[in-house]
Amino acid sequence: MSTPAAPASAVKVRFAPSPTGYLHIGGARTALFNWMYAKAQGGKFVLRVEDTDLERSKPEFEKEIMDSMAWLGLSWDELYKQSERFEIYREYAEKLITEGKAVRDGTAVILKVDKSRDIKFDDLIRGLIVFNTDEIKDQVLMKSDGSPAYSFSCVVDDALMGITHVIRGEDHISNTPKQILMYEAMGFKAPKFGHLPLIMGTDGARLSKRFGAVAVSDYRKEGFIPEGLVNYLMLLGWSPGNQEILPLKNACEKFSIKKVNKTAAQFDMEKLKWVNAQYVKLTPTGKLTDLLVPILQEEGLLGEDYDRASLEKAVEMFKSRLNTLRDFVERAGFLFARDFTVPADVRAGHLMKNMKKEFDLLAGRLSGLEVFDLASTEKVFRDVVAELGIASGELVHPVRVALSASAVGPGLFDIMVALGKDRTIARLKAAF
Ligand code: GLU
Repeated sequence: MSTPAAPASAVKVRFAPSPTGYLHIGGARTALFNWMYAKAQGGKFVLRVEDTDLERSKPEFEKEIMDSMAWLGLSWDELYKQSERFEIYREYAEKLITEGKAVRDGTAVILKVDKSRDIKFDDLIRGLIVFNTDEIKDQVLMKSDGSPAYSFSCVVDDALMGITHVIRGEDHISNTPKQILMYEAMGFKAPKFGHLPLIMGTDGARLSKRFGAVAVSDYRKEGFIPEGLVNYLMLLGWSPGNQEILPLKNACEKFSIKKVNKTAAQFDMEKLKWVNAQYVKLTPTGKLTDLLVPILQEEGLLGEDYDRASLEKAVEMFKSRLNTLRDFVERAGFLFARDFTVPADVRAGHLMKNMKKEFDLLAGRLSGLEVFDLASTEKVFRDVVAELGIASGELVHPVRVALSASAVGPGLFDIMVALGKDRTIARLKAAF
């Protein structure tokens, strides 16, 4: 045979996506659990692109899957493409024919399955699983178009690549006995199998497009950060104990495939946002700013030459309030808007009472400031309130809305400083 079997000693796992679609949440979770298992055991992680379906496999999906994995930080030790290995599958099919274990059916090759046999395997997650071969039809190994059937190329490769543990989605359980029969026929030792629970949406149905974003790249575009998404994905079917925020490195040290749940995991968007928010807080402001710049530029909120220092200040100010990077666009967008206006519905809700007199007084006093910082703006504000004889709350709220078009957000003086003196005054004057 062209490729000798690798020694099956150290742990070697693989993630084997078919490039017929984007890397979705379920695939990413499978990749992650394999990756963590490899790291936990000091083993190797193989990426195998299962592009045997030449019609449906697309190079752009292959690229997107690899980009998404790299973005998540799931690097691989070895890379294979099944479309480059057709010759190997053909050789093994021929060998089975020569040995009388498979037969030709036209140009296809079929494995004969003996009836009334129990096929057992001890699933790493689900325990003992038994199938009877009465439920299993004869198996196509090579299709009539010369391409291998999924299970056959999968088994040949898992054997030749020395895969010790096959960790994959529960939807593959029924393929496992068929694949065990193929290992047997070829005289290979079968690896251990572990089938991960399904991921459900909050509606209890299987995660699908209907649920919303399922592609990892959508989450990337939505402004999730990879560390946050990875941490959330690891909680889908596994629990690192009482600590939910656990960076990947530490998680690998704790990870045990035997501790993965049998029952379906529920994808909870609110939880994902919460986990991501923790990572946003942990990310140094400089790095967070680097991540935000392209998003802000894409939104047309930031030009090529922008003031880095004031942008960093704004990021610092909002950091503790962001679930995702996109939230910054929404919450801090008012800082960048060129033609700022308070939308009619926000005006109607918060700027009903005409406060032109109070706003003019405040604007006038602020314009006299030499140093426009937190302390000086606050002092001016307090003095104006005292002079007007009103409660500070009566002025804080409308001023905040006039400056930021929102009734909630960072401290009022933070907002003023982030806007700078000129824009603060211009917005106060434009309010009524
Ligand atoms: N290409 C298969 C899939 O994407 C891989 C299944 C397996 O891991 O064996 O579902």
